[in-house]
Amino acid sequence: QVDRYLYHMRLSDDVLLDVMGRFQAEMVKGLGRDTNPTATVKMLPSFVRSLPDGSEKGDFLAVDVGGSQFRAHQVKVFDDGKQSSQLESKFYPTPKEVIQGNGAELFDYIADCLLDFMEAKNLKHKKLPLGFTFSFPCKQTKLEEGVLLAWTKHFKVRGVQDTDVVSSLRKALQKHKANVDVLALVNDTVGTMMTCGYDDQHCEVGVIIGTGTNACYMEEMRHIDLVEGDEGRMCINTEWGAFGDDGALDDLRTEFDRELDLGSLNPGKQLFEKMIGSLYLGELVRLILLKMTKEGLLFNGKVSTALLTKGKIEMKHVSAMEKYKEGLSNTKEILTELNLFPSEEDCVAVQHVCTIVSFRSANLCAATLAAILTRLRENKKLLRMRTTVGIDGGLYKTHPQYAKRLHKVVRRLVPTCDVRFLLSGSGSGKGAAMVTAVARRLAAQRQHIDATLAPFLLPLGTLREVKDKMRAELEYGLKRETQANATVKMLPTYVCGTPDGTEKGKFLALDLGGTNFRVLLVKIKSGRRRSVQIYNKIFAIPLEIMQGTGEELFDHIVQCIADFLEYMGIKGARLPLGFTFSFPCRQASIDKGTLVGWTKGFKATDCEGEDVVDMLREAIRRRNEFDLDIVAVVNDTVGTMMTCGYEDPNCEIGLIAGTGSNVCYMEDMKNIETVEGNEGKMCINTEWGAFGDNGCIDNIRTKYDKEVDEGSLNPGKQRYEKMTSGMYLGEIVRQILIDLTKQGLLFRGHISESLRKRGIFETKFLSQIESDRLALLQVRRILQQLGLDSTCDDSIIVKEVCGVVSRRAAQLCGAGLAAIVEKKRENRGVEHLQITVGVDGTLYKLHPHFSRVLRETVKELAPQCDVTFMLSEDGSGKGAALITAVAKRLHNVGQK
Ligand code: ADP
Ligand code: MG
Repeated sequence: QVDRYLYHMRLSDDVLLDVMGRFQAEMVKGLGRDTNPTATVKMLPSFVRSLPDGSEKGDFLAVDVGGSQFRAHQVKVFDDGKQSSQLESKFYPTPKEVIQGNGAELFDYIADCLLDFMEAKNLKHKKLPLGFTFSFPCKQTKLEEGVLLAWTKHFKVRGVQDTDVVSSLRKALQKHKANVDVLALVNDTVGTMMTCGYDDQHCEVGVIIGTGTNACYMEEMRHIDLVEGDEGRMCINTEWGAFGDDGALDDLRTEFDRELDLGSLNPGKQLFEKMIGSLYLGELVRLILLKMTKEGLLFNGKVSTALLTKGKIEMKHVSAMEKYKEGLSNTKEILTELNLFPSEEDCVAVQHVCTIVSFRSANLCAATLAAILTRLRENKKLLRMRTTVGIDGGLYKTHPQYAKRLHKVVRRLVPTCDVRFLLSGSGSGKGAAMVTAVARRLAAQRQHIDATLAPFLLPLGTLREVKDKMRAELEYGLKRETQANATVKMLPTYVCGTPDGTEKGKFLALDLGGTNFRVLLVKIKSGRRRSVQIYNKIFAIPLEIMQGTGEELFDHIVQCIADFLEYMGIKGARLPLGFTFSFPCRQASIDKGTLVGWTKGFKATDCEGEDVVDMLREAIRRRNEFDLDIVAVVNDTVGTMMTCGYEDPNCEIGLIAGTGSNVCYMEDMKNIETVEGNEGKMCINTEWGAFGDNGCIDNIRTKYDKEVDEGSLNPGKQRYEKMTSGMYLGEIVRQILIDLTKQGLLFRGHISESLRKRGIFETKFLSQIESDRLALLQVRRILQQLGLDSTCDDSIIVKEVCGVVSRRAAQLCGAGLAAIVEKKRENRGVEHLQITVGVDGTLYKLHPHFSRVLRETVKELAPQCDVTFMLSEDGSGKGAALITAVAKRLHNVGQK
């Protein structure tokens, strides 16, 4: 009979799944900028962005307002590696005249309680940080501020709504001369999550099922429209108690729910909470029993005065009656106290009513919690998720069956989540202290991180200095007296003109000096069918050959050429060859180049001081299989400039930002004191990577740059290159990460084996991590691949580190380039210079911000130059062929 009577309160799984779907939609509404103002589920940002990591420590105070009693707590958190803490609490009554009086009295009362507590604990002498647990919907704009939106539950204090409760508490504390510092306003759900989070790192949801009900969880920042920023997560206080206030649950609400609502302090509000919280369940049972009795279904139709009195049945009664193990004795006793003279059957029926009412509460809670869990799982893009729910509240804790039922239903509704329910032992007091502790830890951490990264933030003035110094070094390199000792070598290339479009023929090219060694066949057509066709093959150069003997290196190169000729079927043809050799070479003509010194990853013996063309010719001779006509030795910067120059005659600069960093440009012969003649121009390979080798930029080199330098193949050399190019940026990042970890600011202070490995952090990872489209979760996945087990906070820091390192690289490179374009402008003697820079290099091409920052810096530091950047298509292949073609043409002209 009862079952039939309360048919609407028994919810099938289908209905619960439907409720779950409705709540998912409500969450989305609450999070959206445009939909939030009219959303019933407010989804309030809590400004709690991090969970405890176990390194929190200190002494904290907390007050807790919003439950059935006021509470004051002292919490000691120990940083002893065992995650231990100590909690001492005192409870204070909540007199009706205080919780339904006026605001000033309320805050005075809270201050009084706190002072009493401090007195009792002898805490008056030291200034302690305090966390304020205030379990009502508050709109926060920061951690220590919150405007009350509305009272709920049994509270209704005048003059508090729409005001900041933290400043009210601060004022009251000042008036009482209490020596405390209110650092955080915390909802009880958040406190619960944080308390459990201290013991279980997986905890990312907090649920309260007590007087009222509410939940919070960690949401992705990019989904929270109401708070600036997209990085990381923030705890959202859902305020799910208001679910249904717009009628969304009307089909599930019964006449009893409606009657209960009408008799409450806040009619029409918190309709979901009123189906769940312990403040209401007893009353629901009373209303049901009353109606059943009136209809003659119970107690022989006799209604007692007690049954007519609001609030006569409380949650504790419901819980007691549902203790099945004790049979019907509790039920009988309680009903008798209500003057109801129950029969055995009445007792069975009433017990059943209680069960249906409390089971519905657990069911509904399970449905909304399932919605949150599903959202979390989807945010993480996981098919299965393991997570922990921190949970607290009198109903959950004391009702004999509630917890078990809730767990079971949740697991049934979301089979894709492995949920652990963790009871928050010490409740919201410890949680508030924990929030405060985390806030303090983060503030201290932030300071340390800022201090660590500060040397990478270069003010404009410093960048100008870099530009001026570069300019001075360029001049030293060009002047006869200073040339010998110059660090920026300014090497003449004997390339004196850019292509004129009449070049044609078939050429071979070699490209040595970067990540790959390549052999290319380039076919250039002139005239109306002007085009360039390229065939190439990439060959690996094993480390032992890069760093073996010179003979081995060149034999290997010739072996690769032989393979290529075979592969292309052109072994007999004696083609002209251009050799792109991207290391500093002192040239006496276009086909002679003496290696000044290896850079980047190369270190073969017996090469420095030798002519690389001779070494190549000898290796060909040693093999004695084919012959080649080596026409030109070409730097990759020059090849890049020539390739772009083929399309745009205004291109007189070539820039490489790849494994290494270098620039060439067309200089007036009259300025090149190291080469005879004053007519026309010649391309100068600056070899600016060595800028700073005399110590002139040591003021901006950090200890991390020095570490990278010391661990490199050529310590003390190529200092500028080591701050700006692909081979080193990842390594700088790795050095910073190690240091931050040592300081305990990252990876929980644990330096993993992989982080110790040189080169593990490649520059391509910077590009991936810094990509704007990448969510932090993917950053974590990348770090995971590197064997770095990171938290969400860690990944934010790693991203920040990558950002400052790549930004500095782009800025420094821009400062150098500004010096070059300014020099070109002065050479031409013009007010404004229009010029094109041909660029190659994977760092420039693939890094998400490098090229933009580089361009911005040049614009800022050389405002009189209008610089166009042109990406080179295969500069070192095509360019070498073009130079060879030009050289061949000029050579033939000379012979004629
Ligand atoms: P080269 O070795 O001739 O300079 P690249 O211009 O292709 O060749 O540059 C290769 C270098 O670019 C690599 O050594 C690496 O440091 C860097 N790199 C590779 N991938 C990326 C990427 N996705 N983003 C930024 N830098 C990268
Ligand atoms: Mg290259």
